[in-house]
Amino acid sequence: MIVLASENEIWEMAKVKLQENLNFSNVSMRLWFDSMTLKVLTEDTAYFSVDEDLKKKVIQTRYLDDIKAAVAEILGFEVKIVPISTEKDTFENCLADILYNENQEKNTPSVIPPVQTPTYRRMDNSYLSSEIRPIDDDLVPGQVLVSPSFPDILPEYTFENFVVGSSNKLAYTTARTVAQNPSDKTYNPLFIYGDPGLGKTHLLHAITREIVKNYPTYNILRVKGEDFTNELIESLAIKAPVQFREKYRKADVLVVDDIQFIAGKVSVQEEFFHTFDALFESGKQIIVSSDRPPKDMKTLETRLKSRFEMGFIVDIQAPDLELRVAILKRKAQNLGIKVPNDVLMYLGENIKDNVRQIEGALKKMRALAFIQGKDIDMEHAKVVVNDVLTSAAEAVTPEKIVTYISQKFGIPEEDIKSSKRSKSIVSARHLVVYFMRTMLDMTYPIIGKYFNRDHTTIMSSVANVESEIKRSLEFENMINEIRRDIKSGNIN
Ligand code: ADP
Ligand code: MG
Repeated sequence: MIVLASENEIWEMAKVKLQENLNFSNVSMRLWFDSMTLKVLTEDTAYFSVDEDLKKKVIQTRYLDDIKAAVAEILGFEVKIVPISTEKDTFENCLADILYNENQEKNTPSVIPPVQTPTYRRMDNSYLSSEIRPIDDDLVPGQVLVSPSFPDILPEYTFENFVVGSSNKLAYTTARTVAQNPSDKTYNPLFIYGDPGLGKTHLLHAITREIVKNYPTYNILRVKGEDFTNELIESLAIKAPVQFREKYRKADVLVVDDIQFIAGKVSVQEEFFHTFDALFESGKQIIVSSDRPPKDMKTLETRLKSRFEMGFIVDIQAPDLELRVAILKRKAQNLGIKVPNDVLMYLGENIKDNVRQIEGALKKMRALAFIQGKDIDMEHAKVVVNDVLTSAAEAVTPEKIVTYISQKFGIPEEDIKSSKRSKSIVSARHLVVYFMRTMLDMTYPIIGKYFNRDHTTIMSSVANVESEIKRSLEFENMINEIRRDIKSGNIN
């Protein structure tokens, strides 16, 4: 096995060769190759991201052979050079589509070839967990195979620990029914949706646990929507989509948490659809959770939508006061803390939208009381409620918006705040401005001050995003996704 440097180092070394070979000045080098990054290197192809369509075109028509030669000088063998423009979509989405199409073109062989583990293959960690399991990690009967970011079944996520009230009763009883009798046609697929923190993942864990108990020989595959995407990209990159498919299609029960992550990615939906169909046709149970119902997943393929609608769709709503207090009592009991009734009522009335916050508040009160060597009282409750409420209200700041957009689109924060005019930087800046205006109600002049720009420039940035939203459903969907992420503090 050859040990090679990282993609980054390979590309840096190749660029030196390139400059020598082309006899380029630093300025031209910078113009064409600085924003070009080697993202994925497989045994026969190097995939580069390029920030603008135009640059990609020029690179493709003028410099492909030179790049190929320079990279070959470093690697010792030739690889195909594929530049991917990230002007309109993320690198990983584009890559997924390219790999998928390549694979479609070659007819899928009827005999499954053994997986060839390439001698060298590594992917950019920013979108692929380094802990992704090997693709040939097979299912054996009775095994619960878990995708990387899906935590093991948590001992406390049981049906017994799930407190039932009017807002979650139907979801709970349906989940129990499916757990006792998977593959009953009435509840297949089972689609559970609701806002974050209302118990979807808890129920999925409880179902899995129950099925393991009742059906010890079943193959259960639990996966997070985003892992399905990543694993598919990985399998396509090492040209082993058949193994990927086989693995999923051996499941007796497929559990997908947070499926909203696959919406919008054409190739991933396509693959999911086929997997779904194969399992469904052979009477296997599919259980899915999402933050919204299929009809509101704008970029979800119609075929997939109607498949989900064939089964059973159930929602979990925010708990009412009675349920909140019941949950508080149960959680306090589990945590082994005594909470007076007035405190329970006070917490119940003030912490409303998210059960996760209820738990957090109890733990914080326990810590406060412990530090002070006192019993839990109203004073602790007030501190904690104040924390929860202000942390929700103050969650979004201009800096957080900048950080989020910078991470999501891979554009350095300094560039967003600078006056650079490259297209991808300008687009990122437009988005930041738009979210400052719409999420923080900042005035145009104040945003202008932040960016050291005239307020009319700021107005036109906002208008620009607004018109794009009107033009493209997909864009609107992305905007909503970003807003949700920023709101929920979903920033790395
Ligand atoms: P979601 O997946 O919908 O975002 P989770 O299942 O992760 O929410 O739930 C968040 C936390 O709240 C978990 O610790 C879970 O155990 C708890 N929780 C949610 N609903 C209930 C409930 N009805 N009874 C007890 N705990 C709950
Ligand atoms: Mg969840």
